[in-house]
Amino acid sequence: MTSHPAPPIKHDADRRARFFAVVAFERFIPARQTVGFEIANRILVRAADRILAAMQGGSVGRIGHNSIEFSFRAADVAAARHDLSHCLALLERRLEIAGVAFQLTGTVAFAPIPADQTAVTDELFDAVLAALSGDGQGAPAGGGGRIRQIDTRLPSSVQLDDLALLRALPAALAADELHVVYQPKLDCRTGRHLSAEALLRWESPTLGPVSTIRMITLAERTGAIRDITIWVIRQVLRDQAVLHAAGHDLCIFVNMSGPLLSDQGFMAEVMGMIASAQGRLGIEITETSVIEDPQAAIETLTALAAADVPVAIDDFGSGLSSLAYLKRLPVSELKIDKMFISQLTSSNRDPLIVRASIDLAHAMDMTVTAEGVEDGMCQSLLHVMGCDALQGYHIARPMPLPGLLAFLRDTPARPAPAPAPVDTPPVRLVHAANTRRAR
Ligand code: C2E
Ligand code: MG
Ligand code: MG
Repeated sequence: MTSHPAPPIKHDADRRARFFAVVAFERFIPARQTVGFEIANRILVRAADRILAAMQGGSVGRIGHNSIEFSFRAADVAAARHDLSHCLALLERRLEIAGVAFQLTGTVAFAPIPADQTAVTDELFDAVLAALSGDGQGAPAGGGGRIRQIDTRLPSSVQLDDLALLRALPAALAADELHVVYQPKLDCRTGRHLSAEALLRWESPTLGPVSTIRMITLAERTGAIRDITIWVIRQVLRDQAVLHAAGHDLCIFVNMSGPLLSDQGFMAEVMGMIASAQGRLGIEITETSVIEDPQAAIETLTALAAADVPVAIDDFGSGLSSLAYLKRLPVSELKIDKMFISQLTSSNRDPLIVRASIDLAHAMDMTVTAEGVEDGMCQSLLHVMGCDALQGYHIARPMPLPGLLAFLRDTPARPAPAPAPVDTPPVRLVHAANTRRAR
């Protein structure tokens, strides 16, 4: 176990618990490119001053490109949360540097520093960073949200060791430790199962269940994602043969990472596999990946469209894509990011965004899928809004092939919800949703 050098922990008579935290600022790196390094650094230094002002017994460690590490003291976890919430509020107050006004938006992850440790260990540090990157494996005990708490009681070898994970991955692929689960997608109007999405899972005998998003993120960094994606497509094609034999002609969408779109050798291999496949395969690509290299994305997508492979833009809305090239993409479907769906019936803004996304997609001749549909009220609202397809725990959780076969066999097409006014203005929808919640 090695120790992380920053931040220093004060040794004094204060007997309250010690905590380590990292705050990361959203959209700070592009802002830094706009205003220059000097101004950006001054912003972070001012932010660090605010942290010191807000946190008792605080001491600031390393200041990164868009983050600040710090330690502080609090009576317990609840008090730490309370102080961090105050700290975030202070950080988000407008600040002015060199005549330019800035408004920071931060997310903070924190963990108690065990009483017997004098420094922040690498494991603790990695766990906090993993929680900030939305990594499910770090399993922040405090959930997602803007203040994320790490449960340090989780065995660190399972949570934290990225290197061990990367080392184990090739063998896991060869040993078929990975498997694919399927999450069906429902036609909003007919209630029929339109297609399913393939999602990767890894149950490692030594590391335990590995978070998918963590594995994918690491594999994207090392290039292992290429082999993983080929493995997934092969597995999906095998499973599709089983589905076909059981009488189901279901299109299955495979997730594809952005960097692969510009890998011509990889794409040629994928096209070959698709061409010789018995079943129908579709591709989901994340909106952010399209943004990273629009030209490569457009060329690949054009080739896929020519081969009649349906392509969906995943996580739409999370990447702030440019409409200018979105209209040039030969894609057939937009999947609205679940972050807009999860609070559809409780937020004021999300219904407006979702409604606008649906209209936008329809204007571009695309169908719209809402992902992350978790309850019936959300389903009804999406139906009213004119959404075409639904996916989420309310419809079905991701399941292995036998589960999918049983689901397709046993779940009859659900009748579409009662007809609803198609042109209901968004504001009334919000109002209607809130009224129903209040009852
Ligand atoms: P995604 O493609 O946007 O998939 C949706 C994620 O939301 C899945 O997480 C799914 O399990 C989860 N989900 C589905 N319905 C609900 C719901 O109602 N509520 C909530 N809270 N979550 C729901 P999962 O399986 O952990 O996958 C995470 C991401 O990892 C995927 O997001 C996708 O971007 C990526 N991924 C998964 N499998 C692969 C793969 O084979 N290749 C690549 N490149 N990426 C993959
Ligand atoms: Mg997806
Ligand atoms: Mg998605």
